[in-house]
Amino acid sequence: MRATIIAIAAAIVLLAAGLTWFAVTSMAPRSVDGPVGGFGDDVGTGTAVDSAARIEIEFMRQQIEELQEEIATLDSRIQQIEQRPAPGLAAPPPILGGEPLAEPSQNTGPNAIIDAYAQVVLIANRRQVNGKINVAGPRFLEEFLGRPRENLSDNCDPMTNPKLRGMLKTESVGPIRVSMLDPALQSLRRVFENVEAADPDLYARISTAGSLCVRQIRGTRGRTSTHSFGLAVDLNIDGKLDTLGDGKTQLGLTILADFFRTEGWVWGASFSREDSMHFEVSRQQLEQWRAEGKI
Ligand SMILES: [Zn+2]
Repeated sequence: MRATIIAIAAAIVLLAAGLTWFAVTSMAPRSVDGPVGGFGDDVGTGTAVDSAARIEIEFMRQQIEELQEEIATLDSRIQQIEQRPAPGLAAPPPILGGEPLAEPSQNTGPNAIIDAYAQVVLIANRRQVNGKINVAGPRFLEEFLGRPRENLSDNCDPMTNPKLRGMLKTESVGPIRVSMLDPALQSLRRVFENVEAADPDLYARISTAGSLCVRQIRGTRGRTSTHSFGLAVDLNIDGKLDTLGDGKTQLGLTILADFFRTEGWVWGASFSREDSMHFEVSRQQLEQWRAEGKI
């Protein structure tokens, strides 16, 4: 009897030892391979758990790589912004192609130049930018053409002078639509034709902040603005308004100024209170048109 008990006990010990060995040999690789604890809950599906874990890890690794790429992109953008000159500190003459906006890996070639058109730069030698052509001025214009209307305010009022109204036209001239006296409108059309032929990228980015507006010069009482006669236009690049009186302007406007000068227009950059979005017909040009019977 005792021998039987001893035999059964020995058998249990042997069986337990066998089970232990089986458990150790079958579980061990799983616990070694499983890189992260916490995946061992599904004890009965070892291979499936490992695959799921590997897929999960691979997915996370991909996400980390994507994030690293995004960080690198943001880094290069920050560097690009830091390399831009502070507004107004850039060299005034447009040295095309050599602008600091040209980022070798991304922003190469024509794009860098196109971006530069809206860049704000200091106006070089601004009081002399119009050379020998002169502003007509309100007194000269009133004697030359008559008052556009009797009472002026700070708002755009209708033109009442019948002679001037007879010369007024509203038409599209290239990239913008304006209301101006006919010879000025035709002259502006030629300016834009020349700009389009020489620099179509700049041409495509021109917009207007207004042409005809019968009003007094802001800050004065009754001094007639050149806009009142339909002889002036305000322009900008990409619709960004220039800041009045800060001595700075968009690079594209400095280029446009050359085309206007050729047609006998004065650039407002030279005014005592710098107004670089403003272009108006010069006194000499008006006198020439008068001599030719156009005005
Ligand atoms: Zn103006």
